[in-house]
Amino acid sequence: MRTVGFACTSAEDTLNPFHFDRRNPRPNDVVMEILYCGVCHSDLHWVRNDWGHTPYPAIPGHEIIGRVIETGPDVTRHKIGDIVAVGCMVDSCQNCDQCRKGEEQYCREGQKHPIGMNGVYGGIDVVDNTPNMGGYSKHLVVRQEFALKVPKGLDISKAAPLLCAGITTWSPLRTCQVGPGTRVAVIGLGGLGQMAVKLAVALGAEVTVISRSDKKEQDALAIGADKLLASSNDKAMQAAVNSFDLIIDTIPVEHDITPYLPLLDVDGTFSMVGQIGPLPTTTTLPLVYGRRRITGSLVGGIRETQELLNFCARKNILPDTKTVAMQDINDVFKELEKGDTHYRFVIDMSTLKAD
Ligand code: NDP
Repeated sequence: MRTVGFACTSAEDTLNPFHFDRRNPRPNDVVMEILYCGVCHSDLHWVRNDWGHTPYPAIPGHEIIGRVIETGPDVTRHKIGDIVAVGCMVDSCQNCDQCRKGEEQYCREGQKHPIGMNGVYGGIDVVDNTPNMGGYSKHLVVRQEFALKVPKGLDISKAAPLLCAGITTWSPLRTCQVGPGTRVAVIGLGGLGQMAVKLAVALGAEVTVISRSDKKEQDALAIGADKLLASSNDKAMQAAVNSFDLIIDTIPVEHDITPYLPLLDVDGTFSMVGQIGPLPTTTTLPLVYGRRRITGSLVGGIRETQELLNFCARKNILPDTKTVAMQDINDVFKELEKGDTHYRFVIDMSTLKAD
């Protein structure tokens, strides 16, 4: 089916209107009209080819909310008119040990893809062998298992970031069994960081934001954090040694993690969800002397994402967002590069005209 999106044709290009074909729906597919799409820093990495394998033309966007406008004959989970959501994945083998556990993001077949899963962008359609195109577009065709149900009561104009920023921080919080009394620190108060704070607070944790300066202190406190620690303040960093059970690091660029590791208590976990790529040399000293762990985490499984959507609907948790028009995306990317904002930009896709 013919549709339109915003694409760039090289790492130096801006995003511009681009007409292209989505696959015709297969029996197990739903066709969505996209209503909202969040803007993740990964979108920026993708268009700038930061990971080295972006095929152009490239359409980013992996925080997608839309309305079902067509269903294939085998679709049982959704019907025309339903509001559904699609995150970073659009397919998996459904058969390997990881898929059977509900952890499709670690599907053995998906790990053969450049981004470690069959992504809504970055993935390749298993039938057509063509690159997938993301959610900065009018329509999406997706197999029914990867379209999540959006619970009634969740404001769909704000909920899109739950599909990536939300689940990427929910997954390590759940894996580390965060609950009342857990001491959680979140490095970087951006799109992922604000969701990590809100979700950790909702789970009952004591939450500290670690930011480059104290500029975002009021933002951090306003979304429920107990305090902000400025990583540029050596004295405050020294005083915070041994004080966290879990640190979630959302910094999007290459950075030295050495100053953060001693902030973990014995048996604490340092979960890297931000920058994907090389790290400068560090030392094992804090790991050995405190049985501290460094780990990473990739989005979350479909079941876990549905759990998150239901949790957020029940607890009325939504990201702080700023709604923007599709044609403003190049300015939004410039803002994102500065890292000054703690909220998430969400594109109102009705601003993308089909002609
Ligand atoms: P944002 O740009 O919204 O936020 C990142 C935050 O990191 C900024 O607000 C800033 O916080 C801090 N920061 C920015 N630049 C620097 C710098 N040079 N040095 C130190 N801190 C910095 O990004 P997102 O939250 O959207 O994404 C964060 C990262 O997570 C990206 O790299 C993205 O690709 C990755 N990601 C990973 C996923 C996964 O599955 N693991 C899924 C989705 C995204 P402050 O001002 O408070 O210091």
